[in-house]
Amino acid sequence: MTSDDLKALLPASIASRVSSAKFTDGTATVVLDVSELGAGGRKDLELAVTDILGAQERISDVRVAMTAERKARHIIAIGSGKGGVGKSTLTANLAVALKELGLKVGLVDADIYGPSQPMILGNSGQRPEARDNKLVPVPSRHGIPVLSMGQLVEQGKAIAWRGPMAGNALTQLIDAHWDNAEVLLVDLPPGTGDVQLTMLQKFKPAGAILVSTPQDLALIDAARAGQLFDQADVPIIGLVENMSGYACPHCGEHSDPFGAGGVETAAERLELPFLGRIPLNMKIREGSDAGQPVASEESAIAEPFKAIASQLAGWIRERA
Ligand code: ADP
Repeated sequence: MTSDDLKALLPASIASRVSSAKFTDGTATVVLDVSELGAGGRKDLELAVTDILGAQERISDVRVAMTAERKARHIIAIGSGKGGVGKSTLTANLAVALKELGLKVGLVDADIYGPSQPMILGNSGQRPEARDNKLVPVPSRHGIPVLSMGQLVEQGKAIAWRGPMAGNALTQLIDAHWDNAEVLLVDLPPGTGDVQLTMLQKFKPAGAILVSTPQDLALIDAARAGQLFDQADVPIIGLVENMSGYACPHCGEHSDPFGAGGVETAAERLELPFLGRIPLNMKIREGSDAGQPVASEESAIAEPFKAIASQLAGWIRERA
């Protein structure tokens, strides 16, 4: 049996990870490229190869070795305790700002409850194609390739996936043709559900950012989401306060509809870094609705996003 014969026995999604395969005296030896897979993903892959090849009559023994040849890819999870706090808005703007800093960025929209990245990045309605059984991310006008839970179902249909369904969908989005993306930002659903668990077990992120509004309740939920990463040994890069303070566009008067400063205080209490605050500003929402995240333009309102992106880029580079 040649290397190609062995590969042909495996499904395309696995065959594309085979970096070498040989067959001698009944023993199949397969080297798999497991770049960007976590411990769980590696185990699944190893078991699948052992099962499939081991079931062949001519193969009496299967040996699987693993390498990580491709450039290390940093998966950064963006989480929040509850919905509507601006997690998707922050993720899209960070992606755009990181790209401007020279990083190759991809974005995974794993928010099963409200997949909004195609709208924010202006490529809604476009479907990803599949190549070798893996999805090809959809380009966006700001140069950020995107895969979204929203692209996997018909537009406007609520997704009520549970358990393995949600986990499988996440796997499809992450184990895709991200090619040379150095950083993959993952917009997680709020809370601590099935998607988060699959994320931690299969594709352990390099780090996580937590977003909250300054309100007490949102903060308590954010702390709970933080515990999940902590328990899985995923470092929390820091906390971001969104919708922090409002300057009236008419009179300029400053007010704090959701309070202000609460996230920074919480970060101190939890001994986590505080990355910055983003004001409540209509231009941020308008930009998102129009597929033009504000970080793609030069303006004062882009600054807080750029400042957070530059801290994130520093954090990533330290670990590259
Ligand atoms: P999440 O992902 O946490 O559910 P979104 O990012 O979808 O939250 O934000 C919820 C809504 O609030 C969206 O309409 C978004 O445009 C708006 N929004 C988010 N952050 C801000 C902000 N700083 N100022 C104004 N509107 C915001």
